[in-house]
Amino acid sequence: MMMTLLYVEREWQASDTRKFGIGNISLANGTAYGEHSTHKSGLEVDIRPLRKDGLPIPVYWYNKEYDQAATAKLIALFRAHASVRRVLFDDTGIPFVTPFKHHDHHFHLELRA
Ligand SMILES: [Zn+2]
Repeated sequence: MMMTLLYVEREWQASDTRKFGIGNISLANGTAYGEHSTHKSGLEVDIRPLRKDGLPIPVYWYNKEYDQAATAKLIALFRAHASVRRVLFDDTGIPFVTPFKHHDHHFHLELRA
């Protein structure tokens, strides 16, 4: 997971100066993580979509500040680098994503072991 995040961050910074937000991965002992039923294996991570203004704050995919093209590019970078099993995100205008409740201000990325 960390290699994937660091690799994609390097690739991303080569073409865009905005930072992307990385959220929950898992707890060290793999126990339940708040309201998540997943995030126990270290192979799942929540990532914020990109904002047009680049501010490091949340954005929902239906807000005007949401940058769909940049978010699609970021998801494509993850897919190109890592063995991505699934991406849960409610903006179905982006290829390969699966809508899932409460995934309107972050996308959930699952990697294969
Ligand atoms: Zn998640």
